[in-house]
Amino acid sequence: MADIDLSTLTIAQAHEHLIKGDFSVKELAQKYLDVISEKNGDINAYLEVYSDVMEQAEIAQKKIDSKDAGVLTGIPFGIKDNILIKGRIASASSKILENYTATYDSTAIVKLKKAGAIFLGRTNMDEFAMGGSTENSAFGVTKNPHDLERVPGGSSGGSAAAVAMNGALVTIGSDTGGSVRQPASFCGVVGLKPTYGSVSRHGLIAMGSSLDVIGPMGKSVADVETVFDAIKGEDIMDATSVSDEKYSNAEKTDRKIIGVPRHILDQEGIDDVVKKNLEDVITKYEQLGYEVKDIELPHIEYALAVYYIIMPAEASSNLSRFDGVKYGLHVEGNDLLEDYIKTRGEGFGTEVRRRILLGTYVLSAGYYDAYYNKANTVRTLIAQDFDKAFTDVDLILMPTTPTPAFKIGEKSDPLSMYFADIFTAPANLAGAPAISIPSGFADVDGNRLPLGIQLVAPKYREDLLFSAGKKFEQG
Ligand code: GLN
Repeated sequence: MADIDLSTLTIAQAHEHLIKGDFSVKELAQKYLDVISEKNGDINAYLEVYSDVMEQAEIAQKKIDSKDAGVLTGIPFGIKDNILIKGRIASASSKILENYTATYDSTAIVKLKKAGAIFLGRTNMDEFAMGGSTENSAFGVTKNPHDLERVPGGSSGGSAAAVAMNGALVTIGSDTGGSVRQPASFCGVVGLKPTYGSVSRHGLIAMGSSLDVIGPMGKSVADVETVFDAIKGEDIMDATSVSDEKYSNAEKTDRKIIGVPRHILDQEGIDDVVKKNLEDVITKYEQLGYEVKDIELPHIEYALAVYYIIMPAEASSNLSRFDGVKYGLHVEGNDLLEDYIKTRGEGFGTEVRRRILLGTYVLSAGYYDAYYNKANTVRTLIAQDFDKAFTDVDLILMPTTPTPAFKIGEKSDPLSMYFADIFTAPANLAGAPAISIPSGFADVDGNRLPLGIQLVAPKYREDLLFSAGKKFEQG
């Protein structure tokens, strides 16, 4: 077998090699499985490695042999544990769904299967995607491959760590307030949060339905673009999915102007190393021929507060389906009400229960106007801030996270954990696409911890993220 370096292998290269017969799909998959068996014991990126990877590889190989292969045929993926694959467990890293087997494929998986992708296993996450560290998983924390004492970020921490440890060529995660971009940043990989509605949510275990989107993670912008192209598209099963026309009709500007909302750095809790990295990235973009200018997003300071009202409101309503009757864990009580209470009390972890309580509160008759309605109003203002900014600039640049990866156990109070979403949640509220790209390292306690930079584009303009992202990678 050709000597392949998994740490630099791209989808395009792997495809080339597979087509030329330099190595087989089985050989490629086996390489990843070997890494997983060597490293997963320490890192816990995967909750389960599938036992039929070689059977999947055989099917993909046949496609290649019969010249019926696309670019994703035989490419090994890791899939976040909240994305349904028919006949396989999808637990959302929760005890309440520990033994739940999906009865259908999510639309993203249907598309990947058609493309001939191989699924290596399901990756760890914060329970029901609630968190920023994977510490909220019911099945153990995932460790950051760059420093095993630190978190990989979350909620798609397993997906990010899997790519970073060379345990998958690409992975799929979900992003409600930063869950693809923040772990990508902590683990030194690329993560894309697509435009809301561009990738179907059908078969994604719901968290905040007006915010959730499935997104890819990989080592390069090109890989993430390839996967995005494969999974996007309108879907009759998701009424909020958007049509291709939205993309073809999107106003095409390419002025190479980047806006930086520097004012968002004027608050406590943002590391100097992050601020310095932003300045370095700005310089690099200027050298690459972009005009960079300051912009204002006047309502962005409320984004975190708004997110932590709207998201729990939607999550509390979405999670009401886990009642111990239809599927998942069932704990027997003396009557139906006690069944519910016991099942949900034992099945959900602390953070999930906290958000159900918060969400139920902000939706209650007496407080709906004061919290939920007000948050929705401010959400519109935040979205308008972005729209307005995009009349002057093509892209908005900001850090992905306020700090590099923090230590496991370091953020014990929920508010300090929520602060990790300060730069990522705004794009979800606005529905805009955003990408996190590795932008350097911070030297912390003798370790080199990855940093990430975030680009945000107008809706349906992922193409701008990809072109600016690739230029940054090459520059
Ligand atoms: N860290 C954020 C939260 O805890 C984002 C989660 C996500 O995007 N799924 O809500």
